[in-house]
Amino acid sequence: SDQTIEQFLMKNFKVSGGIMTHFMFAGTNKTVLDRYMRLAIPNDESHATYVWVDGTGENLRSKTRKLHFVPKTPGEVPEWSFDGSTTGQAEGSNSDVYLRPVAIYRDPFRLVEDKLVLCETFRHNKKPTETNHRRQCLDVMTWAANTRPWFGMEQEYILLDTDNHPLGWPKNGFPGPMSPYYSCGVGANKVYGRDVVEAHYRACFYAGINISGENAESMPAQWEFQVGPCKGISIGDDLWMARYLLHRVAEDFSVVVTLDPKPVPGNWNGSSMHTNFSTKEMREANGIVEIEKAIEKLSKVHEEHIKVYDPKGGKDNERRLTGNRTSTIHDFSTGVANRGCSIRIPRGVAEERTGYLEDRRPSSNADPYRVSERLEDIDKAVAAA
Ligand code: ADP
Ligand code: MN
Ligand code: MN
Ligand code: MN
Ligand code: MN
Repeated sequence: SDQTIEQFLMKNFKVSGGIMTHFMFAGTNKTVLDRYMRLAIPNDESHATYVWVDGTGENLRSKTRKLHFVPKTPGEVPEWSFDGSTTGQAEGSNSDVYLRPVAIYRDPFRLVEDKLVLCETFRHNKKPTETNHRRQCLDVMTWAANTRPWFGMEQEYILLDTDNHPLGWPKNGFPGPMSPYYSCGVGANKVYGRDVVEAHYRACFYAGINISGENAESMPAQWEFQVGPCKGISIGDDLWMARYLLHRVAEDFSVVVTLDPKPVPGNWNGSSMHTNFSTKEMREANGIVEIEKAIEKLSKVHEEHIKVYDPKGGKDNERRLTGNRTSTIHDFSTGVANRGCSIRIPRGVAEERTGYLEDRRPSSNADPYRVSERLEDIDKAVAAA
């Protein structure tokens, strides 16, 4: 008949769409797969998995090719192309988009000498695509290199079941009410999905990403990992690759990751990408003076920054920055140890009068290239405002 297998099973076996998805995955077997992954392959050959940001500016894509050598730098990996009409990056009639490798990592999935290469995307005329924000970020970082910028990003995210319901939550409702118990929690009734978190941490470490910590977050099934401190452009490169690994590792567990800043409406916690920033002057004795100067400048360009702190011009963050346990999207605020502010000066920084500031406004799905570029180039934004 015309009905799909899914419709057939739902009708005859009364299974829900979510359970159905598990049926569809029944053909995978990680133990059997592992046997094939262990087959020896010649060690003068390797594979490069090209990874790039697609036309949404928040999702990642990848594809793999064999190389007849083992690359050590991204520049040795050949340029490639893909069909941009399937990724929202080109029209069908002129669909080739170029991939230029810009950062190289060890591949934690294929092991041996295989690599993951993060790529910039270019159109047929060799101009960056609309969602290639690395180009401009790199220009700013190169030009301002003498300020020695460091960035540390805290990537929050939520694990979902394949039916898009938060992982481990009862199917028809909510876990115990939003409470302070969950943040940094332990125990099977407080956190869901730690296997994914641990596997991801190890995969990042192996790959060569400067991952520096992780913790359970305020909502059950919500987690955070930190990357940094990283110098200049490497924060964006490492964070994007860490996101790729997160989606890919979770896929191995048949779990979905969402970076949406507010997937569960109401009182439930949203997700952010707090960005910690310092320059050489801020890290020196009495650097607090520089930190305060930077905050003063940031206060003048709040709206401009909000526009690039999520991929939808502020629309995504509007759902999160409600003023309930966060700052409001409409106002700029700052304070020492105050987590309800736009910018927080950590307690230790205030006490030692040196260190960094924390911008709490970037959404969990923000582009780290755009956020780091803005923080590094506050003067330009202020001059333009
Ligand atoms: P929070 O208390 O906000 O949860 P975290 O411990 O999660 O803080 O994250 C702090 C981040 O600040 C880390 O990513 C760390 O790398 C970063 N960081 C520490 N020192 C600096 C610095 N001098 N400049 C920039 N980032 C820094
Ligand atoms: Mn094809
Ligand atoms: Mn944190
Ligand atoms: Mn957090
Ligand atoms: Mn933080």
